[in-house]
Amino acid sequence: MNRKGFIKTAALAGIASQFQLSSRFFKFMSTGDIKIENLLGISESHLKSKPVLLEEKTYEAFSLMRSAALKDQIDIKIVSGYRSFQRQKEIWERKFKQFSKTKNPADAISEIITYSSIPGTSRHHWGTDIDIIDAAAEMPKGGLLQENNYHGEAPFSNLKSWMDRYSSDFGFELVYTKDKARSGFNYEPWHYSFAPVSKSYLKLQMGKDYKKAWHTLEFEGKSEMTYAFIDSYFKNYGMGIHTSLMPS
Ligand SMILES: [Zn+2]
Repeated sequence: MNRKGFIKTAALAGIASQFQLSSRFFKFMSTGDIKIENLLGISESHLKSKPVLLEEKTYEAFSLMRSAALKDQIDIKIVSGYRSFQRQKEIWERKFKQFSKTKNPADAISEIITYSSIPGTSRHHWGTDIDIIDAAAEMPKGGLLQENNYHGEAPFSNLKSWMDRYSSDFGFELVYTKDKARSGFNYEPWHYSFAPVSKSYLKLQMGKDYKKAWHTLEFEGKSEMTYAFIDSYFKNYGMGIHTSLMPS
């Protein structure tokens, strides 16, 4: 069996059988075996714990991709995989406080969402999405996750070229592409998603039950968000992604 065929088969079989229901947290309605708590970042029942917190099938596919890249002297390192609601809330509230010093709440929120997701909506809650660098490269000065580190002669350009060529073979797709027609978050050459699983998560996120559950979450700045804003956020940001990641 070729590599591509194996990944697809394994992922599909896994989705159906390996997610487990748990009642550790308050219960929302669920679709199939994925729970809404998993989408919100408040339950970790969908994750494989070692060595990086990732959704189980995503971890398996990532390990295969990493081994293949190592043969080409590229050491794919995840700097951000799963992120909990609590962590996203901390990131969000820190930025909200900072931007609110000079902006009104609506402008502060617009500024934050150029790069950061609203808590409870992040694709990183799903454990299917990863931010990556090349640990075999010389580390750039300043921040690692910067666009100019991934292009031209920059340290992570080999990684980016390799991913452009091979990541789809392992089920991983760039989420926030450079496509000018795309809405939502800015271009992120470091952020990939495991499509066979994340498509199912997105499908659930597009439904009413998820949104009902999301509205029960609490964090600073939320009271400033109107229903119209939230609806347009889900449409433009949640779905402002590469078309290969849209559920069919
Ligand atoms: Zn990311």
